[in-house]
Amino acid sequence: MSTSQDWITRGDQHITTTYGRYPLVAVKGEGCWLWDADGNKYLDFLAGVAVNNLGHCHPKVVEALQRQAATLIHCSNYYHIPSQIELAEILCEHSFGDRVFFCNSGAEANEAAMKLVRKYSAEKHGENRFEVITALASFHGRTIGTISATGQDAVRKGFTPVVPGFKYVPFGDIDAMRSAISPNTCAVMLEPVQGEGGVNVPPEGYLKAVRQLCDEQDLLLVFDEVQVGCGRTGTLFAYQHDEIAPDIMTLAKALAGGPPIGAMVATEEVAATFVPGTHGSTFGGNPLMTSAAVAAMRCLLDDGVLDNCVAMGDYLREQLEALSSRFSFAGAVRGRGLILGLQLETPGADIVKQAMAKGLLINCTAGSVLRFVPPLIVSREEIDQAMTILGEVLSEVEKNR
Ligand SMILES: *Cc1c(COP(=O)(O)O)cnc(C)c1O
Repeated sequence: MSTSQDWITRGDQHITTTYGRYPLVAVKGEGCWLWDADGNKYLDFLAGVAVNNLGHCHPKVVEALQRQAATLIHCSNYYHIPSQIELAEILCEHSFGDRVFFCNSGAEANEAAMKLVRKYSAEKHGENRFEVITALASFHGRTIGTISATGQDAVRKGFTPVVPGFKYVPFGDIDAMRSAISPNTCAVMLEPVQGEGGVNVPPEGYLKAVRQLCDEQDLLLVFDEVQVGCGRTGTLFAYQHDEIAPDIMTLAKALAGGPPIGAMVATEEVAATFVPGTHGSTFGGNPLMTSAAVAAMRCLLDDGVLDNCVAMGDYLREQLEALSSRFSFAGAVRGRGLILGLQLETPGADIVKQAMAKGLLINCTAGSVLRFVPPLIVSREEIDQAMTILGEVLSEVEKNR
């Protein structure tokens, strides 16, 4: 058996250096727990960055994958695919949407959305209406198109020229949004809660005001729910907290309960723009991933997962607030449901490493925000265990300040 160090040494030879990886070699997962190659066990409050919403290797997802893998793994979108149709039905029945385009990742789902808003607007208003307004501190993916949409200069560094036609405004500022609209604007694209940007929840009424503005100006509204969709905030989709709906929504991360998938959900009127030949994906909506997603979505809807998310989200928030009040360098707790951030007045990277050494996996976004995105099936006992570890780590940080 190879040890963790063996794998790390080998990986260092041939894997691109795109990630600053922690010295953990993941080999097994079950529920909220992850094991490394040396047999150590970790409480996983990162959950593959909000992918494993049902925990690792949920039995219903495993069963669907095994059954489908032995039946039909891939065909082509030249043919009809039953599990893809079932998944589209589920997504449309439980959202504003009428039609779904399937792909394989969040970035691809956003690429589909950006192509769709351009084409829809070009046909309706002429070729000059192509600009999309997005938010500062947003994150929409790593392709050339989605780094162009992302409101962070750092992700574009070294990759210019990027795709033209994006404007960035402060998240939560409706006046800035209104001022940014020009005759060239065709759409607004936002995360209902910003994930990578530091777990930022907009002010009450902001999303509704954006919707109104889009209606007044005849702009399309795109919600990137890649991270906060699929139950993460306690409702099936995050926009459902605000009594409004977008024209387009993108999903990925947790949609299939672990396996890679992406989806763009749109209204009939907007989706109709994608006539044959305008967009596509070889693997998009393939039988294997969509079977897993059907199982994952049914589990989310039928097994009380959303209720648990709301209850455990409240509990985790209380615990984090209690913890924060004990330390001078810890500040506000932000978020919704089970995407929570703890603002620190100190960089969070070392805290993440120390928590890992004690058996708790979390991460840090925006430099100094500890992010908690545990599986939505997490229990009170598991939250208590996590808080004990985090309390120990923060105590040590306080001592050494
Ligand atoms: C993760 C993420 C993406 C990118 O998804 P990939 O599957 O990595 O391409 C896009 N938008 C948001 C909000 C995300 O959190």
